[in-house]
Amino acid sequence: MLEKFGEFNMENVIEEFEAMTSDAERVQRETLKKILEQNGSTEYLQNLGLNGRTDPESFKAFVPLVTHKDMDPYIQRIVDGDSSPILTGKPVTTISLSSGTTQGKPKFIPFNEELMENTVQIYQTSFAFRNREFPIGNGKALQFIYGSKQFQTKGGLAAGTATTNVYRCSKFKDTMKQMQSPCCSPDEVIFGPEFHQSLYCHLLCGLIFSDEVQLVSSTFAHSIVLAFRAFELFWEELCTDIRDGVLSSRITVPSIRAAMSKLLNPNPELADSVYRKCSGLSNWYGLIPALFPNVKYIYGTMTGSMEPYLKKLRHYAGDLPLLSADYGASEGWIAANVNPKVPTELTTYVVLPNIGYFEFIPVRDSIEFKPVGLTEVKLGEEYEVVVTNFAGLYRYRLGDVVKVMGFHNSTPELKFLCRTNLLLNINIDKITEQDLQISVEEAAKLLAAEKLEVVDFSSHADLSTDPGHYVIFWELSGEASQEVLSECCNCLDKSFLDAGYMSSRKINGIGPLELRILQKGTFQKVLNHYLSQGSAVNQFKAPRCVGVNNSKVLQILCGNVARSFTSTAYDK
Ligand code: AMP
Repeated sequence: MLEKFGEFNMENVIEEFEAMTSDAERVQRETLKKILEQNGSTEYLQNLGLNGRTDPESFKAFVPLVTHKDMDPYIQRIVDGDSSPILTGKPVTTISLSSGTTQGKPKFIPFNEELMENTVQIYQTSFAFRNREFPIGNGKALQFIYGSKQFQTKGGLAAGTATTNVYRCSKFKDTMKQMQSPCCSPDEVIFGPEFHQSLYCHLLCGLIFSDEVQLVSSTFAHSIVLAFRAFELFWEELCTDIRDGVLSSRITVPSIRAAMSKLLNPNPELADSVYRKCSGLSNWYGLIPALFPNVKYIYGTMTGSMEPYLKKLRHYAGDLPLLSADYGASEGWIAANVNPKVPTELTTYVVLPNIGYFEFIPVRDSIEFKPVGLTEVKLGEEYEVVVTNFAGLYRYRLGDVVKVMGFHNSTPELKFLCRTNLLLNINIDKITEQDLQISVEEAAKLLAAEKLEVVDFSSHADLSTDPGHYVIFWELSGEASQEVLSECCNCLDKSFLDAGYMSSRKINGIGPLELRILQKGTFQKVLNHYLSQGSAVNQFKAPRCVGVNNSKVLQILCGNVARSFTSTAYDK
């Protein structure tokens, strides 16, 4: 039996989810009707001549598919303070900044109360399923979450990353309390102005409450790996802080110092125990369960562009289960992970039919077809996701590709595949994020013999040479030999199995691949660049391909090259 948990009853949550997913077509129609009734009088929908119609057929006939670029002029007017009903019936008061990974600068997206309610719904849904398999007791969560800078737009709207908008909302805290997983760290740490100081204090708070920590989480898995990599560097200093009850002088933000001083008391026993545990580990394997003996699982998005971090995360996690969080974007939530026992690489997400109206554009052999509805998708097919939400986006192409892996009642279970935009394309070649990841994984196997790993990677299609060629950037955990790196370079070149790439390489339509090894800390500089643009660590996804339009990041990468190698894999 599932217990009643705080104010929400997990059994009811599951029952409602089962009912809704069994009747997905009707729920989708009703959801669209609700969205269009609330917003039918907006300038955008009026101009399209929808004229009060709320059925899916008319909606598809009158409203075009759009991208963020199409919506930008409307959103910009809202950002600049036009409070007339442009996209939503009720005025938008908050703007989210998406991570803007590919363009190098964040995109503006409307955020409202309904998106917050969706957030609570999806958190509760996946928690209800998760808690059935991995029950947690009363305790705390070590959450590596960071509020980004919030600012006022020219028109006086509050703007911050979607995660920041969520963390600032009192409903978020209530929900976390109901889920028995309030954050270890005080708000001053979460919303601190300097990410490195917040990270240090998150770790310290986790250690202070080490026996109470039930789970370790973040929005995306990258932040957890980043945190424990930092722990490897600062652990002795953290022990000293705990032993003396005095916060390290590296923390200079007065509000953080004040908040931490309330938690920190001299505790030599705890300091000794942390010291002993760390000293006893072999290459930090099993660090997380060693530090937090009552932790039940690690939680955060682990699919898509997070996959390259999982090896390191598994290393830190020892035998603890890794559970992937839900599927969503600044534009709104899409689907929940309701099968938490499945290994992370097989994670699927079940669409919540009442949090938006969803369409799917079939993508087969890079040809686009007409969008189909949520219950019309076919098993095994790949689709681009189109979202209509409660916050003013209508038939908005999200730019993600998913694959239908099965059905939960009548609702599809999706596997996240990749972003739609091709990463690398010089000639007739077509390389996706997944292709790049596979090549990097293949080549990185050659490093394993030297006990080295790829900390992070990116790519660039260099057209300044004739013919153009691929550049792969790697940051490594240590120094590798010349021979091994030359081999890695050739292996990368050979591992792009796209027919267009291979044939172009053979006839020198694409030049030899170049592997550039970056100085240590380069990706930290890339992260800092995104943070300075208003992005948050939580939503950070290392850009897997950097184009010339993302000039600042390209400059950082190209300006920090330590060594470079040119492939001979196709030499005759
Ligand atoms: P942002 O709005 O900046 O937070 O980025 C949202 C994007 O992150 C989505 O469009 C996806 O590409 C990616 N994303 C979000 N959730 C997941 C997930 N569960 N698995 C893989 N990728 C995800």
